[in-house]
Amino acid sequence: MLDAVIWISLTALAIALPLYGPRWQLRRVLARPLPAEAEAVLRRNIPPYGRMAPALQAQLRQLVVQFLHQKKFIGCEGLVVDDEMAVTIAGQACLLLLNRPSKVYPSLHTIMVYPSAFVAQRHSVGPGGVVTPDRQSMLGESWDDGRVVLSWDDVKNGARDWTDGHNIVLHEFAHQLDSESGRANGAPYLGSVSNYRQWSEVLERDYQHLRFSAMYRQHSVMDHYGATNPAEFFAVATETFFEKPWQMAEHHGELFGEFLKYYRVDPRDWQAAPLPPPPPEPEAAPRLYSFAAGW
Ligand SMILES: [Zn+2]
Repeated sequence: MLDAVIWISLTALAIALPLYGPRWQLRRVLARPLPAEAEAVLRRNIPPYGRMAPALQAQLRQLVVQFLHQKKFIGCEGLVVDDEMAVTIAGQACLLLLNRPSKVYPSLHTIMVYPSAFVAQRHSVGPGGVVTPDRQSMLGESWDDGRVVLSWDDVKNGARDWTDGHNIVLHEFAHQLDSESGRANGAPYLGSVSNYRQWSEVLERDYQHLRFSAMYRQHSVMDHYGATNPAEFFAVATETFFEKPWQMAEHHGELFGEFLKYYRVDPRDWQAAPLPPPPPEPEAAPRLYSFAAGW
């Protein structure tokens, strides 16, 4: 009888451990605060962090703890990924997850970090289906098999200038969010059908505007790379939303509104409004000519 009880208990444990083990472990990890040195990295390398309300800072720290616990970092080409690199990447990636229930990029397991821009092997298909091997220099990549690849030099640069609209971590992790809803197509998970309808109407219109600006090399708040396809448009618009929120709100009001609803934060709270352009120089007073008569 005792043997049977022990046998049943052991079987129950064998079933429960793989099911609940990771959850118990996560709960234990989340109960521990982010170490002070890691918080100092957030302050140093993620300018919005210092301007957030304490409750939002606490949320971000918790997301970072979960991210660091669940994801594996691999250094490439001899790079050793230290705590500063991991926390900087995790902190920027988790900015996209604030104020909503999130499983923290559930299908992502590995972040590969190169020291600088890396070369990726590609194949381009030419006329007649001829496949040609192609080598491309990349700053980052997002794969739907659970990997993100980043150039550390470019992560650092993105952290240093938070107002230029370029941030490789925000870009690649926006792709991850996009692919959570199936194929990356510029529409992340939005809930109701009416949300998708509104999203696609607004994004399609601004995407076509950006394509036009790119074609005619006109100035745009968003980088012209966003005109490549709808998935790149969403990733570039995400960079713009977090780094140039004032300009995006002014020039792409409806798009900004959709991103406010989706990301549930207003990055204008973390950034001073850009200074208005200087007033035009006053016109020079008409020059008075005097004629010296009598020569
Ligand atoms: Zn991209």
